[in-house]
Amino acid sequence: MLFRSVLERTAGTAKVEESREGAVARLDRAIDATRAELERLLDDLDSDLYDVVSLIFSTHVLMLTDEAFSGEMRSLVESGQAPEDAVQTVVASFVRTFRNLREARLAEKAQDVRDIGQRILANLSVTEEGRASASGDDFTGHIVIAEDLLPSDLVRFAMGHASGVVIIGATITAHISILAQSLGLPVLMTTDRRALEIAPRAPLLLDAASGRLLITPTAEQLIEYGTGTVPPATAARVRAGVGQRRRARCETADHARVTLLANVNLLNDARRAAALDADGIGLYRSEFPFIIRNDYVSEDEQRRVYRTIVESMAGRPVVLRTADIGGDKLLAGREEERNPFLGVRGIRFSLANRELFREQLRAMLRAGHDADLHIMFPMVSSVEEIEDARVELARCIDELAAGGVTHHPAPKVGAMVELPSAVVTIEEFAAATDFLSIGTNDLIMYLLAVDRTNERLGELYRSHHPVVLRTLADIARRVGDRVAELSVCGESAADPLMIPFYLGIGIRKLSVAPRRLDRVRAVVASYSLEAAAGYAARILQIRTLREMDRFFAGYEPPRVA
Ligand code: PEP
Ligand code: MG
Repeated sequence: MLFRSVLERTAGTAKVEESREGAVARLDRAIDATRAELERLLDDLDSDLYDVVSLIFSTHVLMLTDEAFSGEMRSLVESGQAPEDAVQTVVASFVRTFRNLREARLAEKAQDVRDIGQRILANLSVTEEGRASASGDDFTGHIVIAEDLLPSDLVRFAMGHASGVVIIGATITAHISILAQSLGLPVLMTTDRRALEIAPRAPLLLDAASGRLLITPTAEQLIEYGTGTVPPATAARVRAGVGQRRRARCETADHARVTLLANVNLLNDARRAAALDADGIGLYRSEFPFIIRNDYVSEDEQRRVYRTIVESMAGRPVVLRTADIGGDKLLAGREEERNPFLGVRGIRFSLANRELFREQLRAMLRAGHDADLHIMFPMVSSVEEIEDARVELARCIDELAAGGVTHHPAPKVGAMVELPSAVVTIEEFAAATDFLSIGTNDLIMYLLAVDRTNERLGELYRSHHPVVLRTLADIARRVGDRVAELSVCGESAADPLMIPFYLGIGIRKLSVAPRRLDRVRAVVASYSLEAAAGYAARILQIRTLREMDRFFAGYEPPRVA
């Protein structure tokens, strides 16, 4: 189905004849209905999308109650404009004002204004008897084709159970795709505008993993994708479905216990991880609320979001990482940096913005008051940064205690190992923390000087690179008996060819995306510790990438159940 915004759909449509009083009453009803609809969404704590919904839509409620916004619409209607025109006029004027603001963060608020405008317009076309709310858009069985997409559109598609989304446009940011993944929406991004010409009811099959969209798939293709007789457009959701059976503990073939944790970006991930019996959360990327809002998030709002994450784990350990803002996770509107990956990123950003950092720490301490709480710092390049961050944490604990606010008095404190300087001083890092987590996504990048987002360098960006393997083995050896508190949370922790390597060098904690949990559990179970140690020793002898590729080409992993 082709998604067009209601603003576009309503433009130029014929209006019904009505009195001025009737028109004002209709506008008021539409505004009230919009507010009620948003409040219903915000009250739905059970929704798996509660965090995203509250981050996006709570600002919409505020805007809706702003007299300069809805009041202006009303006075235009009172002076004779049709409600639809009044909404479009006011929205257009706010969009213009926001777009003209120099700060990109504020300029992006234009999207929120358009979003509210669309909701009001949708409610204006409601008859007295009412209709399904705008939030009740039903995309079941549809692959949505859209361009010029807002993060909130994506949330709406997910709430409406879309089977997948095809996004057209070259300017889509990386966080839209991360958001889509966490929302469980298969997404294909393309610059091919011919997708807009696909007939509305054409059967589609979206293979988001390999970036293919099949129009009117053949019977063979349907069988190939295992959709059988299921209508094609629902295939993606069937494949993304989560089973209900209880999983076995994660252990090796000879029953050595491995702690299997989840990487979580949104509440949706956390609930999925809990349903898939993760042993806890090994990495919660707390920059996500900021990315979704594309703005700062108050301490109370952060506390509410973190609380839902903590509660989803029902007592299992939770590692909340402080915001890793910067690098590829830029908030629009932050000061431009010539080299953001080497710039004010992660803990550097937090230490440069102490009040924001303290708000975040307080929110975490409050949200995790009764939890097995761990707080972790990203992008740490020196022990001093850990010490400085610890001072701020201690200060927050004292403040909360003095104010009588319920909080966790002594969370475990850890750091990401993702910079070469952290590796060089790993013993000191271990001594300064309660736990460490290796972030291979960044470590590979900084070690090999290969941008993780540059597709042209994909051949070089390899976790099996001999330099990376030796570095990882070195870390595990040098933390000594503290290896028990060492985990890996980069994507490589879910790589079937890296898992036995990690086990072989002594690592017993892996943190992976929820959708990888079952697979990782199965791969771990297919190796004994002895086999894993032999495998690690073998690939550590390899000196070049070419030789490594040859080794893997001839390698037969044990059968995975
Ligand atoms: C990493 O760098 O490996 C990591 C897990 O953190 P992120 O992907 O959020 O940078
Ligand atoms: Mg990282």
